[in-house]
Amino acid sequence: MIAAPRRSGLWYAPAVRSFDVAVIGGGIAGLCFARHLLRARPSTTVAIIDRRRLPADPTQRAVGESTSEIAAWYLARRLGLRDLLERDHVIKFGLRFWLRDPADPAAIERRVEFGPMSVPPLMLERGATVTPPLEPHAYQLHRGRLEAALARMLEADGAELLGATEVVGVTVSRTFSEVELRRDGETSSLRCRFIVDASATGELTRTHLGPRARERQLPHELAAAWWWVEARLDPASWADAAVNARCSPELRWRSTHHFVGRHYWSWVIPLSDGSTSVGIVADAASLDVDDPAPLADQLRAVLEREEPQLTAKLADHPNTSSRAIAARPRARCFDAPLQDRWLVTGAALAFMDPLYSPAHDLTALVHELAVPAIVAELDGTPTSEQSRAQINASVARIVDYYATIYLDGWPVLATAKLAAIKITWDQLSYFGWLCPLVMSQRLRDPLTMQRLRPHGERVHLLNERVQALLRRWVRLRPGSDQPSASGREIDLGRLRTVMDRFLALESLAIGDTAITLEQLERHTARAVELLEGLALAILERACVDLGLDLPSGPLDPYCVGLDPERWGADGLFGTRRARDHSAEARADLDYLWGEQ
Ligand SMILES: Cc1cc2nc3c(=O)[nH]c(=O)nc-3n(C[C@H](O)[C@H](O)[C@H](O)COP(=O)(O)OP(=O)(O)OC[C@H]3O[C@@H](n4cnc5c(N)ncnc54)[C@H](O)[C@@H]3O)c2cc1C
Repeated sequence: MIAAPRRSGLWYAPAVRSFDVAVIGGGIAGLCFARHLLRARPSTTVAIIDRRRLPADPTQRAVGESTSEIAAWYLARRLGLRDLLERDHVIKFGLRFWLRDPADPAAIERRVEFGPMSVPPLMLERGATVTPPLEPHAYQLHRGRLEAALARMLEADGAELLGATEVVGVTVSRTFSEVELRRDGETSSLRCRFIVDASATGELTRTHLGPRARERQLPHELAAAWWWVEARLDPASWADAAVNARCSPELRWRSTHHFVGRHYWSWVIPLSDGSTSVGIVADAASLDVDDPAPLADQLRAVLEREEPQLTAKLADHPNTSSRAIAARPRARCFDAPLQDRWLVTGAALAFMDPLYSPAHDLTALVHELAVPAIVAELDGTPTSEQSRAQINASVARIVDYYATIYLDGWPVLATAKLAAIKITWDQLSYFGWLCPLVMSQRLRDPLTMQRLRPHGERVHLLNERVQALLRRWVRLRPGSDQPSASGREIDLGRLRTVMDRFLALESLAIGDTAITLEQLERHTARAVELLEGLALAILERACVDLGLDLPSGPLDPYCVGLDPERWGADGLFGTRRARDHSAEARADLDYLWGEQ
């Protein structure tokens, strides 16, 4: 399988094997890329190289288990894995947050439960059943099972799996690249026309592309620790009967549960082998730099202090804690992932924050953009510099969108009412703007990109204004030692703005062909309209909460902010893009605030 070993210091050239594409890293990103490429161009010769054995051990686990709707669509539709996902993985029932204020008790029945509580009535009318619960729906992946299955499929499709093999060097020349391999102490090499760096660290890209790949650090420092519990944990079952009755037990356990508090959030994800993935992500700045304890112990201590119910469940399974893994992943990305005969994808491309599971979404998006260009290149049509620049700019803009969501978001997430508003906003922009963009299958159409750019820029602008407003709102609120979260539920299915866009995704998510540009424009324009309305409704609610006197009349949603002295200068009362508050958005805010 491996090219001939070095003889007398020379490459034994006839034995050096050539491939169209060498994928370095056979984790989820590399395997998905290879499958996407082979489905698009079955005659491609592909080598997948990994230090680990390939196919990987199907019982192994890794974080990166929760998917959102874009990644789920990509895996199910683009990669044709729907049957496999539905058979071997858990169908997810959305995001579920257990919110509280710092002064609130941690007990689950005293927290605000935010998430879908039932299959929306509209869907039931359309014939949706409880399993699968929603359309579109996402999945909780068992990484070992998925990667082993993908590798086997790729092998059957003719890909060469070079497992237990390390890439120790890459030389890129004008005509081909040479990849230096080491296996069992022996070195060898292979040649290829295109390299895909899916090796998770980004080191290869950093070394070989240098500044061309435009790496940047993102202003977000995290620490994380995680465990696998050999049992199913159903957080709602730790609460009283009233909490349990809110949501069908058949559905709720499938959610990604988030326990959110000051400077941290923790996850509970059910896996298809009956185990549960549990982890904590904390603001790295909140940890004591002088603490000599290992990071896993420090984070476990945070969890014990803040989430006693969850930690008690971990303690019930003593073999769990010894398997803690901890990391301080750097938030970073390459702004130019597609280069001449080179693509970087997966964790090598970017790491942001696991909240909302953006990683697999970004991988899907990059592949949607890059695979058609690579196929054309292999067929003899080189990608123009301009086209590459457009693809790279699109990826960088999506990273910007997420970076804005995470920037200094900890205090907002730790304030139940504001967290609920933030999550609503984030979900609306995701379902309304990002999902249709990818699921439309029009990403590679230059005219589509040109026509959608103004809508996209509006979403970015609104996102920046609203996230900044929420951060300021939480700072201006008088601190309270009084518990305020009421133990109430917020049913995502009752949020009119979010459901308007979520339900509209159904036709996109299950269709096998691209929608028209006009249809996509309608999707996006509606999302922008709802976001504008929500931005104004949030401003209005914040002003009432803070006792600020907001003049009545039309306002410009692109100028929302909480500094009354700047309202005039910022253009809040300007008529250029003035809108009235939308009825749906106002109703959502009333409901989120507990007034409905
Ligand atoms: C705490 C935490 C929680 C997360 N949760 C989520 C989540 O819920 N949802 C989500 O979407 N994302 C999540 N992520 C991100 C997600 O885990 C990653 O984006 C994803 O696992 C990356 O997959 P990958 O294929 O790029 O990398 P990997 O799965 O790490 O695969 C890289 C492969 O490359 C191989 N390799 C590396 N170097 C070489 C070499 N020189 N030679 C040969 N082989 C090599 C490695 O052996 C490895 O198999 C989370 C991340 C963290 C840190």
